[in-house]
Amino acid sequence: HCPVGALRARDDVDKVFEALADPEKITMVQIAPAVRTAWGEGIGLGKEESTTGKLVSALRQVGFDYIFDTVYTADLTIMEEGSEFLEKFQNKNDNKWPMFTSCCPGWLRFVRSQYPEFVEYLSTAKSPQQMFGAMSKTYIARKLGLDPEKIFCVSIMPCVSKKFECDVRQVNDTGMEKDVDLVLTTRELSRMIRADRIKAEDLKDETFDEMFGQGTGAGLIFGASGGVMEAALRSAYYLITGKNSKPDAFKRVRGPKGWKSSVFEIEGVPVHVAVVSGLGNARKLLESIKSGQVSYDFVEIMACPGGCAGGGGQPIQDGADMAADRGKILYGLDSVADSRFSHENPAVQMTYEEYLGKPLSKRSHELLHTSLEQ
Ligand code: SF4
Repeated sequence: HCPVGALRARDDVDKVFEALADPEKITMVQIAPAVRTAWGEGIGLGKEESTTGKLVSALRQVGFDYIFDTVYTADLTIMEEGSEFLEKFQNKNDNKWPMFTSCCPGWLRFVRSQYPEFVEYLSTAKSPQQMFGAMSKTYIARKLGLDPEKIFCVSIMPCVSKKFECDVRQVNDTGMEKDVDLVLTTRELSRMIRADRIKAEDLKDETFDEMFGQGTGAGLIFGASGGVMEAALRSAYYLITGKNSKPDAFKRVRGPKGWKSSVFEIEGVPVHVAVVSGLGNARKLLESIKSGQVSYDFVEIMACPGGCAGGGGQPIQDGADMAADRGKILYGLDSVADSRFSHENPAVQMTYEEYLGKPLSKRSHELLHTSLEQ
């Protein structure tokens, strides 16, 4: 049994072509952070040439009506999950520790089936994919003047498990049939581009559609092991102190090791964190927590070794483990990003001002959080 569902992979390319050909549907696509590190491999583009701008160009040629970035909702996830962590941390004795991240469906399936006693320790924040789906058929539809019933929301993900995540009843809160209608893996994306006879050499750098293609460096590093933790700490520091940390202040959680731990002082208070990737390491960590050998405040867990950059839906290079190299691409993009803090994302700020109010508001809870028992 494959823990992340990679062996049950199904091909949804034809269904996307059907949706694109349906004049009644408004097609909206989101691109996960890790996809941009590997999408070019499947169509013969080198690392330097396979820019995010060319990926946008390919999706526009395929025929999507709106092309947006999951990094927008990765930043939104940080605002919700970081605020949830702080709220609990400020009432430390009333809560159970550590708080675990909840954006990886492979990890969620593992903990629910193998360690159900830890389910109540999970963050209630939805994944960036599902937050995007929820926003696409509510706020984004309203902002762009679109009929939400007509929106067909497609995700391009590095992940096979995401195909099943979008079917789970508890993450579908907009009242439409589904919040995210269909998920394509990075490999399926390559097939779609090839099937449409789009030539790599004809792709020019293009920009995402206005407003919801805006992301920060913090949202981008979601695709690498340690990235969610680092992004959350950058914004938690801001929420506690009212000022930004140095962008690289929490970089000790980066790197290819399967289990990393660190302590960071924020306003004199130590925060104990761990970052784990690979389910074997997750099992070791949970057993160590159970036996009292280790204790943490906040733990990031990703099912795939190296995080989503090495996800089960990414192109496969014979015998090569590409997660570390792809992760470095994301950290490179973060280092040159206009902003490296999720709380500075203008689209996220606008979303709170115009629609959600503030993190953990009633509407945020309705659309962006989920019940833990599934
Ligand atoms: Fe999917 Fe990423 Fe989790 Fe792998 S680590 S199962 S790619 S969400």
